[in-house]
Amino acid sequence: MPYTEDRSTWFEGQGLWQHVPQADWTDWTWQLKHRIMSKEQLEKYMTLTEEEKEGCEFANKKLALAITPYFFNLIDRNDPDCPIRKQVIPRGAEMIVSEGETLDSLGEDAHSPVPGLVHRYPDRVLFLVTDRCAAYCRYCTRSRLVSNAQDYNFHPEYEQGLRYIEAHPEVRDVLLSGGDPLLLSDKKLEHIISRLRAIKHVEFIRIGSRIPVFLPQRITPELCDIFKKYGPIWMSIHVNHPRECAAELKAACDRLSFAGVPLGNQSVLLKGVNDDADVIKALVHRLLRMRVRPYYLYQMDLITGGSHFKVGVRKGIEIIRALRGNTTGYAIPQYTIDAPGGGGKVPINPDYVESITDDEVVFRNYEGKRYRYPLKSTPGVAETDGIPAAEAPIVVY
Ligand SMILES: *Cc1c(COP(=O)(O)O)cnc(C)c1O
Ligand code: SF4
Repeated sequence: MPYTEDRSTWFEGQGLWQHVPQADWTDWTWQLKHRIMSKEQLEKYMTLTEEEKEGCEFANKKLALAITPYFFNLIDRNDPDCPIRKQVIPRGAEMIVSEGETLDSLGEDAHSPVPGLVHRYPDRVLFLVTDRCAAYCRYCTRSRLVSNAQDYNFHPEYEQGLRYIEAHPEVRDVLLSGGDPLLLSDKKLEHIISRLRAIKHVEFIRIGSRIPVFLPQRITPELCDIFKKYGPIWMSIHVNHPRECAAELKAACDRLSFAGVPLGNQSVLLKGVNDDADVIKALVHRLLRMRVRPYYLYQMDLITGGSHFKVGVRKGIEIIRALRGNTTGYAIPQYTIDAPGGGGKVPINPDYVESITDDEVVFRNYEGKRYRYPLKSTPGVAETDGIPAAEAPIVVY
């Protein structure tokens, strides 16, 4: 599944919605109102496979089906294996529960001192401010609560969350997530951000959002003014495939960057979507061109009904190995497994080190060549084993 197309724009314009006035198309509330939310609506625009039909019937008991018209246009409707399609159109395999899969695979509910707030690491909290998203990713980690298809009845308690943060001086970093925080009104968002900004010990505020990808129209000048006013506000967006990097996403990233929002990207490694070094390489290059620094590449969490997306960890390591040395260091995300049950994020890396002793470290470079780095300051180390000896240590007086 190599992805070599070198166009900065896969798709631009209104596609299937040519008849819609541009003022509506670029209005995020119009996009939300006209989301595709049922099998019947989907079938108006495309032919579904049997697997997808089955998935759509089941979806509303698990995680709602919703796709913005803008994002729907990025789907190749003639290709059942389209990587965009797989992310948002349910498939029957979601009904299968495999070994180790649970509803709350990261044990978030158990690490929640007040509803909607997860305090797992010493200095930072995850603040879940809504259960709604512009569209729903079929592999969503929080499908237990997101979209409320499972009657979780999530009621964000901003006040309780804010008071918890105020009362805990060790919290220096607050991550707003959900659901998608950018679905809140400007007024609500400004309320939360201004309250956080007023807390002296909170020095780092960030937002995790897929809105720039699903609904770039939401990144309005007014919203950007809020980020400017209370900045620096950092943001992690969520792009999995280079085809999502349409002109509209690029424009939304520009608006955020010019408002002083540093952008990172989190991808989830997904079978048939981006489990390929060429696809990830094309993606990270696109991201850099949009001023977005690849941050994490996640091994998918063990959520119920996710096994059809699961990729082997060897594959993930191979992808990182294919990037290191072969492309810009800034382009390389950290491959990570979030430990099931609530152990937190753990980096998974290709192994370059062969041995470490008090005397030396022996390692291989990105081309597989072996090198030795002596740790003892004895001058004139001889060449051994065909491993190039390092130069005599430089002494600084
Ligand atoms: C991912 C996560 C964070 C943020 O982790 P970073 O590595 O700092 O990006 C914080 N809290 C929880 C519960 C998380 O899952
Ligand atoms: S945008 Fe995030 S929270 Fe929303 S469905 Fe996708 S993965 Fe889940």
